[in-house]
Amino acid sequence: MTTKTRDHLNVILAGFRGIVLLNEPMSRHTSFKIGGPAEALVFPKDEEDLSGIIRLARSKKVPLFMLGDGTNLLVRDKGIRGIVVSISSGMAGECFRDIVPVKEDAGRLYLYAGAGVHLAALLKYTVKNSLSGLEFAAGIPGSLGGAVVMNAGSWGKEMKDLLESVRLIDKNGNITEVPAKGLSLHYRSTHIPGIVVVGSVLRLQRGDSEKIGMTIRENLLRKKETQPVGTPNAGSIFKNPEAMPAWKLIDSVGMRGASMGKAAVSERHTNFIINKGGANANDVLSLIRRIGSKVERETGVTLELEVRVVGA
Ligand SMILES: Cc1cc2nc3c(=O)[nH]c(=O)nc-3n(C[C@H](O)[C@H](O)[C@H](O)COP(=O)(O)OP(=O)(O)OC[C@H]3O[C@@H](n4cnc5c(N)ncnc54)[C@H](O)[C@@H]3O)c2cc1C
Repeated sequence: MTTKTRDHLNVILAGFRGIVLLNEPMSRHTSFKIGGPAEALVFPKDEEDLSGIIRLARSKKVPLFMLGDGTNLLVRDKGIRGIVVSISSGMAGECFRDIVPVKEDAGRLYLYAGAGVHLAALLKYTVKNSLSGLEFAAGIPGSLGGAVVMNAGSWGKEMKDLLESVRLIDKNGNITEVPAKGLSLHYRSTHIPGIVVVGSVLRLQRGDSEKIGMTIRENLLRKKETQPVGTPNAGSIFKNPEAMPAWKLIDSVGMRGASMGKAAVSERHTNFIINKGGANANDVLSLIRRIGSKVERETGVTLELEVRVVGA
């Protein structure tokens, strides 16, 4: 870290009330267990605390990156310059993990949840309160904020199907509520105007708690059977092209099990790369390039990354 950056960080973080970790290895905060250090990883106490650092980081031109639960991220080996913000960790304020019913209307329940809530916790809440609509998300790790930004989905359903509105903080630190209709939500991507999602209102239906619980268990089981659960990874590496699922294309060019250093294409699901222990981002990036060029050369299809690559 340069002296100038350190001075700027000192100014930005002077009035900050949350927790700050300096030079924190991102490998501790990603499901891949890969990633160099963040110059500062911060856990705000509340929305005001978060708005404050967003405003100050902008005025000092210090880059700010919003971390969810790190389940869709590949952080490069030299780490992330500037400030990384986490609101889904238990070290951040509890307000980011609020779950509050907003209104009920003809069997529809509108539920506000903070962006720091884990999808698994939200699913537990829906079973307890007999709310249906989110079952497809069983087995998708990560936070609600990450799921909204990625428009995460499974089994033909995605977050956009139940998203009513999003609570955002813009680059000037102002909080706004934006209806989902005003957002551009696509397959595994969104164009959200703010830089931080602090919460969302979801549209759910009253349903039968037992049936909801059973669907969740079935979906979890299907994931366990098809994914390399228990080995560090970051979910699907590539988006599925329209022509054919990415895993089939990768399999068809003989890349099942292919490896680079300690990173390997999963034997169980060829669109997953696993960290066999001690892999670095360079291993994974080299493997991604090898897969991409082999698939393109042999099938003519260009694969697009789903995993987000960040850092230097
Ligand atoms: C085993 C496994 C299985 C998976 N299965 C699926 C699946 O079935 N379907 C699917 O869609 N995905 C799947 N994923 C990928 C991943 O879980 C999802 O994309 C998830 O929604 C990412 O959430 P996260 O909180 O971990 O976000 P992160 O990975 O931390 O971040 C993802 C992106 O969102 C941004 N972001 C996160 N939170 C915020 C916020 N509050 N405000 C602004 N920006 C934010 C980050 O800057 C980053 O660009 C899987 C991953 C794993 C490891």
